[in-house]
Amino acid sequence: MRKQIAAANWKMNCTYAEGEKLLSEVLDAQVALKDHQLAVFAVPFPYLIMANSAVSDSPNYFISAQNCSNKKSGAYTGEVSAVMLDSIGIRYCVIGHSERREYFMEDNAMLAEKLNLCLANKITPIFCCGEALNIREDGTQNSFVEQQLSESLFHLTPEEINKVVIAYEPIWAIGTGKTASSAQAQEMHAHLRSVLAAKYGNNTAEGISILYGGSVKAANAVELFSCPDVDGGLVGGASLNASEFIQIIEALK
Ligand code: PEP
Repeated sequence: MRKQIAAANWKMNCTYAEGEKLLSEVLDAQVALKDHQLAVFAVPFPYLIMANSAVSDSPNYFISAQNCSNKKSGAYTGEVSAVMLDSIGIRYCVIGHSERREYFMEDNAMLAEKLNLCLANKITPIFCCGEALNIREDGTQNSFVEQQLSESLFHLTPEEINKVVIAYEPIWAIGTGKTASSAQAQEMHAHLRSVLAAKYGNNTAEGISILYGGSVKAANAVELFSCPDVDGGLVGGASLNASEFIQIIEALK
């Protein structure tokens, strides 16, 4: 059975004390998760150890980094490596968020390197893909995301791709309050799964979790998550509000 995931992306928000409070409020709700359901919190680097310790008694709750370096180690001031994340017990890392692609010039080839380093260090990458508004308006979104997948993921073996979580995040819906309709989300997720199936076969494609991201909130999570190919969400703004995010976790089907 595919994993269903409610993933919070705090981005560059919250002080340490605010982050501690937010996490403990969500954990205190003790939303019971089934074996195949996970809640993941992508928190800022300085909070990883605190957050990992906070979830340690909550089965199926995990902490994620928001990024890691494409370099293994060495003279790269300010970078954080996958080896470092592994060394503090972090098991998830967001890779290729559209904000990283846009503001930090991360391209598909660099993201492939990051993915390799995550997998080599037992870290599940949450690989983000998705098109900007002009691409959607041109109607070329399917081939655009297909290229993102093929240039960053398709060097992986079937065994490796099985360990990757994909997040489809149409850029026009991130932080804009504009959500893809459940029909648009399902259509793209089904497309992504068919692209994965063409490369890796049906069985492998059926096992890969594909999350939707883009203005997910408590009010639309149930409808989005009920789409057959939507396996949960990557949530920015609404994950900063404990009661919103608790309801989003509860919306996992
Ligand atoms: C995100 O940051 O990945 C995201 C989807 O943000 P938001 O939910 O605020 O649109």
